[in-house]
Amino acid sequence: MQDPLERLDDLMRRLIEADQAGEPMEPLALANELGAIRAGIVEARSVVPRPGGERHFRCESCGTVVHGTNPPKACPTCGKTKFFAADLESPIVDAGPA
Ligand SMILES: [Zn+2]
Repeated sequence: MQDPLERLDDLMRRLIEADQAGEPMEPLALANELGAIRAGIVEARSVVPRPGGERHFRCESCGTVVHGTNPPKACPTCGKTKFFAADLESPIVDAGPA
């Protein structure tokens, strides 16, 4: 999937173009695209794993990242209980220019 922020930029550009053209975007299509972008953001793995096996979990609702061996029972920020694993599958190692 396209990077969520690129997708968001693209959507903003299309909204501006739609406004300038006087042809508004279909609200449901807009809602679907925003939902897909939101899912891409909350599900994205973006945290380098800690040494020692601790993992990171991102709250599906508010985005708070918590570390531990297991997801927390509830988000410390919003109290919701659904989390996505946020650790990168393989840590990005900066190897310098290729
Ligand atoms: Zn939360």
